[in-house]
Amino acid sequence: MQSIGLYVHVPFCKRKCLYCDFYSAADMSRTDAYVRAVIRNIKAAGLTYGTVYFGGGTPSLLTAEQISDILSAADISDGAEISMECNPESADFSYLCGLKSAGVNRVSFGIQSLNDGELAALGRLHNADKACEAVLSAYRAGFENISADLMLATPLQTAESLNNTLERLLELPLTHVSAYLLKVEKGTPLSLDKSLTEKLPNEDETADMYLMTVERLSAAGFEQYEISNFARKEFECRHNLKYWRCEEYFGIGPSAHSFLDGERFYCPPDTEKFISDALQERVSLGTGGDTEEKAMLALRLTKEGLRLADLPEAESRAEPLLKSGLVKKEQGALLLTPEGCLVSNEIICRLIG
Ligand code: SF4
Repeated sequence: MQSIGLYVHVPFCKRKCLYCDFYSAADMSRTDAYVRAVIRNIKAAGLTYGTVYFGGGTPSLLTAEQISDILSAADISDGAEISMECNPESADFSYLCGLKSAGVNRVSFGIQSLNDGELAALGRLHNADKACEAVLSAYRAGFENISADLMLATPLQTAESLNNTLERLLELPLTHVSAYLLKVEKGTPLSLDKSLTEKLPNEDETADMYLMTVERLSAAGFEQYEISNFARKEFECRHNLKYWRCEEYFGIGPSAHSFLDGERFYCPPDTEKFISDALQERVSLGTGGDTEEKAMLALRLTKEGLRLADLPEAESRAEPLLKSGLVKKEQGALLLTPEGCLVSNEIICRLIG
């Protein structure tokens, strides 16, 4: 059996960022009880994992010992990718050395920007120097696989400031970059603050920023392999590829989603409940992995794309999109172009019908 992915959702953050609608809370007194609950769930599932991903929240608020305890409880295949999201302000050199000893072999830093004004407008706790220092510390600690998250089209960001961020970012020893367009989610403090929302780039500026990022990253050797993800050769995130390839994964922790034995389900976003339940509750979302879902996810992969053999009816639907340069056809597959990535939802709907 193909080994699956393990996702561990760490629901703690020192403070909420202004744009964030992920599930997390600031009560750090519950981390020990939370770790015990994660371990209980790992042991009860009895699965073998080919990739592990600690996401959040802020996984780097757990100690390296807690991460080690979680990893020791899991059956992990040799050569597995073990990723952890870290925030620059909570990952210094000695902490990163501890993670390395615990078995983590890929770190992903939530950098977002290397402009202090933009970081403050997002409500982040770090500044640009701290972010660069964290990446360099990870490299010195022996990590060979280091990723950075960037946010595009944030308040105050301009083409020039993004260009400066990319320039400085590309001097760092990175193997992977994720670049997400900021989506202003309803109800977040950012969405309610007019002084910030009026400083958001408009649609055309946003498109230019995305296309510039794709171009700069690709010129620096980071090949785009997904709408928002770029990697040096052979450094694609193996765990996240499982999501887009519609492969199975088990999610542990409040708000974590899973896809196992053909079923999609999630654990309710409630840390206290997760801690007190003998095993996490499983709320079913029904069956997953049908042809349409597979096609939708495959189209996000800009190198692999949607194989026409898997959805032959997409070929005729693609004709106008091919003419307008939003989609290209290569080796029997339909692939989104960078311009197509900007309107991916519309294209996916049209191709899938
Ligand atoms: S650190 Fe990440 S998860 Fe926590 S509040 Fe900020 S964006 Fe949200």
